Amino acid sequence: MQNTPVQYLKGIGPKRAKSFQIRGVETIEDLLYYFPRRYEDRTNFAGISGLEAGQVYTIKAQVLAGGQRNSWRRRAFSITEAFVGDNTGKISCVWFNQPYLKEYLKVGSSMILYGKVELYNGKMQMNNPEFEFIGKDVEDSLNIGRIVPVYTLPTGFSQRSMRYLLKNALDEFLPQINDVLPYDLRARNNLLNLAQSLLNIHFPQDLTLQKSAHTRLSFEEFFMFQLPLVLRKISQKEKKGIAHSAEGRLVEDFILHLPFKLTDSQEKVLSEIKMNMASPQAMQRLLEGDVGSGKTVIATLACLIAIQSGYQAAFMAPTEILARQHYEKISLQFSELNFSGRKLRVGLLTGQGKLKERIYRDVAEGEIDLVIGTHALLQEELSFKSLSFIVIDEQHKFGVGQRALLPKKGNNPDVLIMTATPIPRTLAITLYGDLDISVITQLPAGRIPIKTMSFSRQDEDKVYTLVKEELKAGRQAYIIYPVIEESYILDIAGAKKMFTKLKMGEFKDFRLGLIHGKLKPKEQEEAMSKFKNKELDILVSTTILEVGIDISNATCMIIASAERFGLSQLHQLRGRIGRGSLQSFCILISDVQTEEARARLKAMVSSGDGFYIAEEDLKIRGPGEFFGNRQHGLAELRIADPLIQMRLLKVAREEAIKLLGQDPRLESRNSQLIKAKLLARFPEYEKLMFVG
Ligand code: ADP
Ligand code: MG
Repeated sequence: MQNTPVQYLKGIGPKRAKSFQIRGVETIEDLLYYFPRRYEDRTNFAGISGLEAGQVYTIKAQVLAGGQRNSWRRRAFSITEAFVGDNTGKISCVWFNQPYLKEYLKVGSSMILYGKVELYNGKMQMNNPEFEFIGKDVEDSLNIGRIVPVYTLPTGFSQRSMRYLLKNALDEFLPQINDVLPYDLRARNNLLNLAQSLLNIHFPQDLTLQKSAHTRLSFEEFFMFQLPLVLRKISQKEKKGIAHSAEGRLVEDFILHLPFKLTDSQEKVLSEIKMNMASPQAMQRLLEGDVGSGKTVIATLACLIAIQSGYQAAFMAPTEILARQHYEKISLQFSELNFSGRKLRVGLLTGQGKLKERIYRDVAEGEIDLVIGTHALLQEELSFKSLSFIVIDEQHKFGVGQRALLPKKGNNPDVLIMTATPIPRTLAITLYGDLDISVITQLPAGRIPIKTMSFSRQDEDKVYTLVKEELKAGRQAYIIYPVIEESYILDIAGAKKMFTKLKMGEFKDFRLGLIHGKLKPKEQEEAMSKFKNKELDILVSTTILEVGIDISNATCMIIASAERFGLSQLHQLRGRIGRGSLQSFCILISDVQTEEARARLKAMVSSGDGFYIAEEDLKIRGPGEFFGNRQHGLAELRIADPLIQMRLLKVAREEAIKLLGQDPRLESRNSQLIKAKLLARFPEYEKLMFVG
C-alpha cells in the first residue's frame, strides 16, 4: 500500500512523477515523508502598520500598485516592485531579477507574503518575499486560518498544489498506515503514533503537536539509523578473533627506544587496545585524536603486538606520500628492534613500485611482518600468511566498502581505524555506533601553540616579509592553494602559476618546489623528499599535503584563498606545522566575506583545538556534509539533527540495542515492518545482518 507509486494519485502524471523522483519521492510513503521546509502561522497575520525593521513576518495584503524599474547600476539588473496594503497600512515589496513577476502582481489580487522587513532610504520594505495568491472569498481552509506547511517545491508544483496533494494522500492513506515503531516502545518513550505524527508534521493542529510529531519522526529516523550499526556491532562481537599476547618484549623495547615519553592519554588508549587485542573477540576500534596527538606511535605499537604474537600486520594510508612517510619512519624505528634473533621486516606496497611481485611473495610466505601501503593493499594479488591486525589511517578517505575489504585477507583480524577529525564523544558513540572508541585527548607536552593570523590579499606583502624572515632563520614554509590551475571566473590563484610567479619574483632568492595531484607519484615523491632533506625552502602545494605529513622544520604555512577550504580541512592543513619545538605561523589569506567563510576563519584564528574546531565545523556545515553522506547513512536523516537532538539519538540507540538484544535477527511479528524498512533503506546491510 505504502509502496504504491505516486503516479497513483490524481493529478500526478509522468511529468510530475519525474520531478518528484528528482527529489527522491517515488512512492506514497516517500511522499508522506516529504516534510515541510518550514511553517507559516496563518491564524494571525501581522498588521502592516506594526512591522519593525529586521524582523521576518507573514502578512496578508492586497496589491495596490505594481511596477518595474531597472537598477541604475547595471542595465541587466531589474527590480520588480509592488505596493501592498491591509487595513492597517501599506508597504513596498521588492523582488530582484524576477521580471516575470510583473505579470502576476495584478492590482486588486490578495496575497500572503513572507519575508524580512528592512529599512531602505528611510522606508520599510520587504525584500524578496515568498508569496502566494489567495482566492478572494472562497473558504480556503488548507491555506489560510491555520499553521500552513511550506515545502521545497519539485518543478511543476506550487505551494498550494503541494498542500492539496499531501492533504489528499494523507486522507486516503493514513487510515491504513502501519506504524513501524511497536506500541510498547512508543508508550515507553511517550511517542506519538505514526498517523498522528504524519498528519501533524504536514498540517499541525497546533505547535505543540507539531513538536511532538517532529520528535516522534526524528526518533524513528535515529532508530532506523542506529539499528544497522548496532547489528553490525553485535555480529562483530559474535565473531571469534585472535587472542594476542599484548604484554611482550617487542612492545616494551619499542617504548624504551622512543625519544619521548608517551602522554597519559596515549598510555590509556594503548591499554584499551592491549586489552581488546588480548581478548579472543575481534576488535573494531576507532582511534580519535587531534592532528599531532601521536596516533601513529600507538598504531605502530599495536602492530608490534600482532608481530610479537607471531602474526602479520597491515597499515593502510590514503595517499602514496603518507604511506611512504610511515614506511620510512617505522622502518627506521624497527631497525633498532630484534625479534626471536632476527630483525623485523617491513614492506611498502603502493600502486607504483616495481617490486610488487616480490612483496606479494614475501607477504604470502610470511617473510614480511608489517606491510604498509595505499589502496594497493586491497588488490587481490596480495594475500597474507597470517594477518591478525590492520590499521586504517585517516579513515574518512576510504569508503565503507574499501574498509571492509582488507579484513577479509585474514581470519577476523583486529582492526584499528584512525581519524584526525575528533568529534564530541556522545556524538562519536552514536555515529560510529558499530565501533569501540578510544580518544587521545592530549597533545604531547612542550608543543608551542601555532600562531594563526588572517590577512586580506592586499596585505600579501607583509605576509611574505614574515615568511622570508623565517626562511632566513633556516626554517621552511608551505604555501597552499585550493586548486592546481587558476580560475579567472572564481578569481582564485592556482598552485602551478603561482609557483612560477613566486619563484621568479617574490621568492627568487629561495629554493621552491611544487607538488600537486597531477604530478606523477615519482615527481611528488621527489619534491617531498627534497623538502624533507632541506634542499627546498618553500613547498608550493595543493591539499595533497593535507594529511599526516610530518616535517618539524617547516614552521610557516600560507593558505591562499582560505575561504575555499572547509574548517576541518584548514585545521588538518595547519597540523602540518607546529610539529616540533619551534614557534610556527599559519597565515590565512582571504578576501571573501560571506558570513560562513568569516565564521570559519574566526574559528581558525581563535582556536588550535581540534575538538573545538570540529564542533564549530559541524555547526556550520551540519552533520551530513561534515561526515560525508556515503559513510553514515546520515543523508537518510531528513528532520532529525544529531547535534540538537543528541539525547533523543541516545535513547533511540538504547532502544535499538534493547530490541536487538531480544530479537537479534528481527524475526518476531513486531519486528517485521522494521526489518522490511531497514532492508529497503540499506540493502547493503542484508549480508552483514541476517547471515550466520
Ligand atoms: P598524528 O596523531 O597526527 O598522526 P603523529 O603520530 O604523526 O600524529 O605524531 C606527531 C609527532 O609527534 C610525531 O613526530 C611523533 O613522533 C611525535 N610524538 C608522538 N607522541 C609523542 C609524545 N608522547 N611526546 C612527544 N612527541 C610525540
Ligand atoms: Mg597521522
